[in-house]
Amino acid sequence: MLKNKVAVVTGGTRGIGFATVEKFLENNAKVILLGSKKESVDKALNKLKEKGYEADGFYPSLTNINEVKETFDKIVKKYGKIDILVNNAGMSAMDKIYDYNEEDFYKIIDLNVNAVFNCSRAVVEHMKENNGGVILNTSSMVSIYGQPSGCGYPASKFAVNGLTKSLARELGKDNIRVNAVAPGVTLTDMMKDVPDSVIEPIIKSIPLGRIGTPEDIANAFLFLASDMASYITGVILSVDGAARS
Ligand code: NAD
Repeated sequence: MLKNKVAVVTGGTRGIGFATVEKFLENNAKVILLGSKKESVDKALNKLKEKGYEADGFYPSLTNINEVKETFDKIVKKYGKIDILVNNAGMSAMDKIYDYNEEDFYKIIDLNVNAVFNCSRAVVEHMKENNGGVILNTSSMVSIYGQPSGCGYPASKFAVNGLTKSLARELGKDNIRVNAVAPGVTLTDMMKDVPDSVIEPIIKSIPLGRIGTPEDIANAFLFLASDMASYITGVILSVDGAARS
């Protein structure tokens, strides 16, 4: 589905990002994954190699626009273009407002929002020159319902939806589609440490009766990245088993 496409996936070293990298490789894209440090990028690339896939990787600070621009320019020089950008890197926190310290709030906004802006800013000119492209963002179920603690995380994902819908309207004329996937609770490394006593009530509240897998989310990204979604832009696609947090 992605033959001859060049895709960049941020936060591609594990979890949803890694599953998306694998899914894109399976569908014949050239994939460049971005991670936060050299060791995690090397580990992810080796894991892919063991599965018979060849990918590339870099580790710019996503919150530094100059480092991001340099990396994207390097990628375009090496691969000739970027067709697909998946802004997936993200972090969450559950602090109550009474205990929230401002550095933690700013940190979440910096990675979950500013980095999405930085990467989108760095890629749009390349996409325009190449007559189009696709930008995909990882939002969250909490971008629709909020959550009863950790207000920074839903606030950041509401902003991701705002960027998604606004950039879709601004960039349609340049044939750049912009969409987001809003996962529900998804079984990544982070979730594997959560005790059964917390997981079971969550599962009970999900109409489809299970937690999502990284592959469930990667499948949605594959569809939205592909030409099968050529008339879809500005959409926040929930992939959450109809969970309502
Ligand atoms: P994860 O912790 O397994 O992966 C996060 C990824 O982001 C990693 O690849 C990591 O390298 C990268 N990252 C973290 N901090 C970074 C930094 N400072 N600079 C650059 N990269 C950094 O988590 P995940 O669950 O796979 O999360 C991926 C995305 O999905 C996030 O945007 C998250 O908000 C979103 N999401 C996750 C869930 C869930 O239940 N797991 C639900 C909804 C949305």
